[in-house]
Amino acid sequence: MSKLHQTLLTASVALLGLNGCGGAELPETELTSTQQGLAIPLPIPACAGALDTDGDGICDLVETLLGTSPTNPDTDGDRLNDYAESFGFGGGLDLTALGANARRKDIFIEADYYAGLRPTQAMLNRVISAFAKAPVTNPDGSTGITLHMVVDQQIAAADADADLNPVWTDFDVIKAKYFAANRAPYFHYMLFANRYAGGNSSGISRGIPAHDFVVTLGFIGGGTELQQAGTLMHEMGHNIGLRHGGNDDANYKPNYLSIMNYEYQFYGFGIGGLNNVLDYSRVQVASFSEAAVNEVSGFAPVAPTTEADLAKISGLRFNDVQVTGNASTNIDFNNNGAIQATSYALDFNRSGSAGNVFPASQNDWTALAYDGGGQIGFAAPGFTQDLGRAELFLVAPEKMEPCLTVDARDAR
Ligand SMILES: [Zn+2]
Repeated sequence: MSKLHQTLLTASVALLGLNGCGGAELPETELTSTQQGLAIPLPIPACAGALDTDGDGICDLVETLLGTSPTNPDTDGDRLNDYAESFGFGGGLDLTALGANARRKDIFIEADYYAGLRPTQAMLNRVISAFAKAPVTNPDGSTGITLHMVVDQQIAAADADADLNPVWTDFDVIKAKYFAANRAPYFHYMLFANRYAGGNSSGISRGIPAHDFVVTLGFIGGGTELQQAGTLMHEMGHNIGLRHGGNDDANYKPNYLSIMNYEYQFYGFGIGGLNNVLDYSRVQVASFSEAAVNEVSGFAPVAPTTEADLAKISGLRFNDVQVTGNASTNIDFNNNGAIQATSYALDFNRSGSAGNVFPASQNDWTALAYDGGGQIGFAAPGFTQDLGRAELFLVAPEKMEPCLTVDARDAR
């Protein structure tokens, strides 16, 4: 919370005391302290009589002081209501203490894990950093998304189902025991487990968008830090509405530069001189034809993406190998060590032919769904306005395809 925000909060409380924002005196019993050392009445009693246009439990006068919208109960559009983010009092859960901000997008994930699979902070930071750098604007003038990874409990050996089969049935048994129900309207739930459904998939999301996912690298010994972080971000991507082709299910689209594309789940990109940077697509690349691949021209941007934006991205991968060049030009698509001036045909998506045309790709970051497949956004009754369920599943849980398959050779 910024100094300004603190000052405004203090001022708002003072105002409440002066004019009651509806005439109510603040009963001593309702004075509760939150973090930052501020004594803020919870819930704000004054709104009982004051104008609260958007019905979010914060009266209009206080919203003005806080810089939140008096006409939108979710000022920053992250599906966490303004009241819970400003006063932290959502069904007994203090989101403010966990760092929520009503004027900047926040995503909360509780992470539980099997023995030996506890997520390290270094691994989590790779994903947290990716979200912090997201090209997403916020009402407070900042860019990025604050990802709150709350590492919680180790699943006891007796509860740690070895193969989660069927996955969501067994997952729910664990979730019912280890995930606090009052977090459900605000949190995604992630399990670092061994494997699921008897297969060798690295993880699965409970639909697209959704609020639950598993990362199952335990069967290859847990995987490397990069594999864990990449898989976490990939499955989380499904949770927030991304598919293997961004806005479609077509995997291995060469012009879709996202960790949602299997080529990149375990590797990320070269961005700004750093390697293995995890990212969703932040550029829009023009339609691309397998029949007319040109290494010199590389990819073409679709506005507002520019050639300069494309030039920042390297570490490109096609048909399981990383090639030289950046996304703007001189891409050695066939990895033969030379940049060929003449166009040729190449199969990128394992279809067996080189005749596919891939439509322009999307900027993932501006296409995210924050509602958890209809779960996230429900507020505790009595405290905040119900934001309602926005989107139903684009891909229902039972239609969800397994994500990247791995085997022992990937455990390196
Ligand atoms: Zn996937």
